[in-house]
Amino acid sequence: MKYCARCLYPANHPLKITFDKKNVCSGCYIHEEKDVLNWNSRKEKLARIFNAYRSKNSKNYDCIIPVSGARDSYFVVHTVKKEFGMHPLLVTYNKQYNTYRGIRNLAYLRTKLGCDIATFTVSPERVKKVTRATIKEFGSIYWHCIAGQTAYPVQNAVRLKIPLIIWGAHQGIDQVGMFSHTDEVEMTRKYRKEHDLMGYEAEDLLGIDNLTKKELGVFFYPNDKEIEKVGVRGIYLNNYIRWDTKKQHEKMIELYGYESALQHRTFDTYNDVDCFHYSDLHDYLKLIKYGYGKVTDHATREIRLGRLTREEGIKLVRQYQNIEPNLQKTKLFLDWLGMTEKEFWGFANKFRNSEIWEQHKKEWQLKDSVISHANDKGVEEVRISKKEKKCEFIISPARIKNYQEKQYILVGRGWIDEEKKHQESKKTIFFVIASENRVNFILRTDIFKILKEKGYRLVIISPYKNNPQFRDEFKGSNIIFEELCKAGKVADMINNLRNEKLKINHPKIKEWRIIHGQIKRRYKSQEHAIISFLKEGVKKIILGITPQKKIFWDFIEKWLVVNRCCRKLFKKYKPDVVIMASAGAGRKDASFILYAKKNKILSYAVDNNIDVFEWRYLSTPRDVSGWMLFGENQKKEAMELQRINPKKLITTGPVRYDHYLRNFKPLPRREFFQDLGLDPNKKLITYGAKIPIIYPQNADIIKSLKNISEKENNNAQLFVRFDPKHDPLQYGTLLDNIPWERGEEKSHRDHVANLLYHSDVIVSIGSTFCIEACLVNTPAIWIGFDGYKKHKNPLKSYRAVYDLDLFQRIIKTGAIPLVETLEELIKEIENYLASPEKDTAERKKMIHQEYGVADGYAGERIANYIIDQLEKETLKK
Ligand SMILES: [Zn+2]
Repeated sequence: MKYCARCLYPANHPLKITFDKKNVCSGCYIHEEKDVLNWNSRKEKLARIFNAYRSKNSKNYDCIIPVSGARDSYFVVHTVKKEFGMHPLLVTYNKQYNTYRGIRNLAYLRTKLGCDIATFTVSPERVKKVTRATIKEFGSIYWHCIAGQTAYPVQNAVRLKIPLIIWGAHQGIDQVGMFSHTDEVEMTRKYRKEHDLMGYEAEDLLGIDNLTKKELGVFFYPNDKEIEKVGVRGIYLNNYIRWDTKKQHEKMIELYGYESALQHRTFDTYNDVDCFHYSDLHDYLKLIKYGYGKVTDHATREIRLGRLTREEGIKLVRQYQNIEPNLQKTKLFLDWLGMTEKEFWGFANKFRNSEIWEQHKKEWQLKDSVISHANDKGVEEVRISKKEKKCEFIISPARIKNYQEKQYILVGRGWIDEEKKHQESKKTIFFVIASENRVNFILRTDIFKILKEKGYRLVIISPYKNNPQFRDEFKGSNIIFEELCKAGKVADMINNLRNEKLKINHPKIKEWRIIHGQIKRRYKSQEHAIISFLKEGVKKIILGITPQKKIFWDFIEKWLVVNRCCRKLFKKYKPDVVIMASAGAGRKDASFILYAKKNKILSYAVDNNIDVFEWRYLSTPRDVSGWMLFGENQKKEAMELQRINPKKLITTGPVRYDHYLRNFKPLPRREFFQDLGLDPNKKLITYGAKIPIIYPQNADIIKSLKNISEKENNNAQLFVRFDPKHDPLQYGTLLDNIPWERGEEKSHRDHVANLLYHSDVIVSIGSTFCIEACLVNTPAIWIGFDGYKKHKNPLKSYRAVYDLDLFQRIIKTGAIPLVETLEELIKEIENYLASPEKDTAERKKMIHQEYGVADGYAGERIANYIIDQLEKETLKK
């Protein structure tokens, strides 16, 4: 597909696009007019038009403005009424998929601007019948909205004899440069049919699904005679005013408190907040038909206005384009319509354009999109310079906090009588994010997204506070960044002693503690050993005189562990909830738990490790208000091994894997392999190397895997991924002809997901990496031997770790084989390379067994749980 060298539009843009010699599209070409036309004189021209239509005796309205409440409605009404002093009648077609936020925006629009409004609500049953037909006929859930929005104003103009209709932007001009601004094109029946209505007038639907004239009549455009009699004309404001929807919305937020909201499939938070489906299911159908979505429209617009570079635009497209529709919203739609999911996608997929899509591993994949055209020839030559550094879309405060959009509001009042009563005091949430992993597992999930959207004040406390990319990714008007500081020596010491004294007595934990100790002890230096021997001595004396009681240590910590930094943050923000990634297994979290407890603040541990209760808490964990767990197995462990009160154990499914289960869309193999310096024609064996302190025999394994990959029959290649803090340079020339990467630099979940997906087999050592591979149905193998070495003492071998119940449980499912010799490793790899589908069912079974409800909505459940708890707290007060 051909793409514009300046913006992101493809040659198949449904509004028709043309390209010049330099591959610049007609839309970009016409857009240049925005910076050369004399807009003052154009505005004067508009004033002259308005003056001609001003009602002489004030008996009638001066003009009609079609509004939805969102998408430039405020700006158009504000301009026409406040700037030009016209007396408009607002008309709105009820699209039925209304969000409550949309209803509020519309209510405030008419009230604050003091306008009359005519609303047209067609019987939902009739709308459903029409929508069923348009889905079958041309895959659209939105036809009735557009048909209604474009017919109802004209019908009113004819009926009420108000000849002037005022529209916002003409999409044909703004997107593809169909006309020059100076052509001053006006509304026509032809454009409406061909472009707005996808070629289908209401009349064309007669007979389809037995639709009658009576049922479709409301969508009929008045006939030419009627229109001529009144002299109806529709003008577009973007021919007279330099159009910049972002700037316009920001002014409206400032003037009238227009409510913006996060959108599912695009970064623009201003435009379609009134609808459940426009930026979601409807936009996904556009992707199916044309291979691009709203995000391309929005990024293109911002590129042309000089707020994004083409590359930044492509990055945004990559981020949003392939996100699948929100399951719950789609379900809402299908329940409303009375259609099953299977039926719906059956129709929708008929319109999947086979020139754009292909099937791979049973998944539809885009053959091509603008993502792979970042480096097209000629881009540099036609580039427009950036005029603004940032392109930030803000989330303005919602008039009702903590409201969950779950149902369509067919008719609603929208105005909030006593705003203040409903407006809760602004709740504050602490996110304690100590490592890159936790960024992936907490901030890059719905937990953060939903709580951010709710308008709570979120304080991210993290060592990445000053990292510009980090800030850029998570910023927002309700987001604050703070530094995560160290605990201090006394706190460290007390923490140490406490953990020593409060070791858990369960026989299993005792056993694991021995293995844990072995692993840690093996690789410490002699010098280190002497120092720690002395330290141990002092420790033993103190431990001898302190009681082994939790209550005692809670008291000590409460009064002796003073972390100035932490105390300052609690004082400054007075948080209502603290969200952490562990309940004190990482020392940095511990002080936050202590302070939360001391100040009676809710605290939640979202620990994302499958071995959390068996392997990470070898001493009694600290008290939090709740633990968010994967599934029942974890709950059982928490109760049995750690004696945690079951009331505090909340099973939510694996939030760390939501991305895989719902949003993940792999990159094309070729593109991904090129990035990593790999050959797309060869199979890929990926080795996840553990740090040497835990597994010192990496070199042996790398050598063996290299040999296996080079065997002629296997036609494979080796790739090595090193854990963070694992320095590959120590392997010297061994890595000369082997591509590799480090976890520190390549930690983004998208990257990891692609690596797992495109690997043909994953090999690792007791690592979650292998479990993750199963989520994308890639075979994985656990190594349970020590390279070329053989330990006499079984406890010295890493093999001992696999005796943990959790490993045994997983191995038993047959999802991830444990190999205990090099021969077994070779055999398993070759089996998998030859038949990649092997063990597919086992992998699925394992995911289900370990992670319970693995539907991709764990983050949403966690966020909703926290919101509920916050609401309960408010009621108590
Ligand atoms: Zn262009």
